[in-house]
Amino acid sequence: MRALVLSDIHANIVALDAVLAAAPPVDEVWHLGDVVGYGPDPDAVVDRLRKLGAYGVRGNHDAAAAGGDEIEAFNTDARRAMEWTRTAIGGSTRAWLDGLPEKLVRGDWTLVHGSPRDPIWEYILSTSVVRAAFSDLETPHGLHGHTHLPVGYVEEDGAIDEVSPGSGSVLELRPGQRALLNPGSVGQPRDGIPTTSWAVLDTGAGTMTWHRTAYDIAAVQASMEALNLPGRLVERLAFGL
Ligand code: ZN
Repeated sequence: MRALVLSDIHANIVALDAVLAAAPPVDEVWHLGDVVGYGPDPDAVVDRLRKLGAYGVRGNHDAAAAGGDEIEAFNTDARRAMEWTRTAIGGSTRAWLDGLPEKLVRGDWTLVHGSPRDPIWEYILSTSVVRAAFSDLETPHGLHGHTHLPVGYVEEDGAIDEVSPGSGSVLELRPGQRALLNPGSVGQPRDGIPTTSWAVLDTGAGTMTWHRTAYDIAAVQASMEALNLPGRLVERLAFGL
């Protein structure tokens, strides 16, 4: 079974459509949350995922957009963008976001936005959090987003290896290995590379392949400026930070 794995699309329909145009045929589309927030097209992104029958989970921005008090923890720019998002989305978008689970299991894989123990908020960035995530997973493997950084952690006999995938990188899992993998962000990459980051997971072969695809960043920036979204959020798209 092949799944297209997307995370942190952040209401960037131009980036999402560039990924969908570049992606190979897959059996399922999986998303790891933060479908909305920051970007200018929340309804369009939700509509696209709904039509694709995507399976996915709730991120902190999705929870805030659906009315949650997560917005209280946002910085000034994120909060301004979220206040706009709340007024911009339609009722069916809000209901779809509100219906996203915090965790979802598909076969051997658990999908979360943050981490298994704190699916909405925790960033998997340090070795101690990676270890905790492996012990909290109730399936052999996990997929996460939230950091906007493409990365793979592979555990074998208690030792953890970290891989930093580039475009075209393939991770092959051997029997006995467990994996915790992040496809990176479709709509707001933060690893210094502004192109969309996404992945294809082949559950039968045990492979994850990461990809980077260019999109029309200037068009998204123009949409954000027209909506008076915060300038720093507009600018960061060009730098991938
Ligand atoms: Zn995010």
